[in-house]
Amino acid sequence: MGREDPSAECSIKVMCRFRPLNQSEKNRGDEFLPKFPSPEQVTFGQPSKTFTFDRVFPASTTQEQVYMAGAKPIVKDVLEGYNGTIFAYGQTSSGKTHTMEGVLHDESLRGIIPRIVDDIFNYIYTMDENLEFHIKVSYFEIYLDKIKDLLDVSKTNLSVHEDKNRVPYVKGATERFVASPEEVMDTIDEGKSNRHVAVTNMNEHSSRSHSIFLINVKQENTTTETKLTGKLYLVDLAGSEKVGKTGAEGTTLTEAMNINKSLSALGNVISALADGKKTHIPYRDSKMTRILQDSLGGNCRTTIFICCSPASYNEPETRSTLLFGVRAK
Ligand code: ADP
Ligand code: MG
Repeated sequence: MGREDPSAECSIKVMCRFRPLNQSEKNRGDEFLPKFPSPEQVTFGQPSKTFTFDRVFPASTTQEQVYMAGAKPIVKDVLEGYNGTIFAYGQTSSGKTHTMEGVLHDESLRGIIPRIVDDIFNYIYTMDENLEFHIKVSYFEIYLDKIKDLLDVSKTNLSVHEDKNRVPYVKGATERFVASPEEVMDTIDEGKSNRHVAVTNMNEHSSRSHSIFLINVKQENTTTETKLTGKLYLVDLAGSEKVGKTGAEGTTLTEAMNINKSLSALGNVISALADGKKTHIPYRDSKMTRILQDSLGGNCRTTIFICCSPASYNEPETRSTLLFGVRAK
């Protein structure tokens, strides 16, 4: 069993990360808009407004700094039997995948996911012998409200069911048992290449679908026979931009409506949880919030990375991203 403590509050942290101006923004002569008056604040826009988050990462922040402040604390909790979720939210090209995955096999540029994997195994290696660990991972994508298994391409429309404890899960999803960080990374590479195969333009596709990587850690004490389970969802969301602007061009109305609906369902769930007084949390409004239900509510740990472009050209999208973040607090 995971930790059950009905009196515990759910913890939602919102962290904001700005990337540097990219080449095409520089070429266009875009201005770098944000100012960072404190580690929790960003001042942005015209007229300028100051937004406060649990943490704000300026454009110069390294992958390691983001990991240490934004993800490592959740890993510790998951190893203690809590459930957690880490999201990246933002318009296409704002740095979501850079934050979640980064350059997977590059020591300094790798993102949160590979660092989490290393940390989990490092922890296991330091534990004494009467603790047995069982780690399994799953990897899916949600596109047009269909759940696809990225570890088995034949499973293109999985459904969400509830187990006997009424905990929702993706029925029939591949679960891969893994025994080393290398095995996890191989599984991620496999899922990513499956995702590529089915589409002609990966960048466009990833901006219209959500990817969800699940790590489940079960610990068994062979002396006392006690068990502890924690799971962690790592979610790279679809681009939050409004359709019509570059990046979302060619997006069909159906795609746009699906993205819109699922992102606003997520926003509604998170703001209801953050409110603390709401008794009804609208998990059932989207497949994603249903899947994540027992890792968002209760005494779970959630961190949302709000990813932002600093460019004046993207000001409206960045403002709307910052407002999403504010609503989640
Ligand atoms: P998204 O997943 O939100 O569409 P990406 O993570 O793919 O965006 O980022 C778009 C581009 O910007 C990529 O080439 C990525 O390497 C680069 N990038 C994103 N964030 C940063 C950052 N903090 N520092 C340097 N480059 C970044
Ligand atoms: Mg991406």
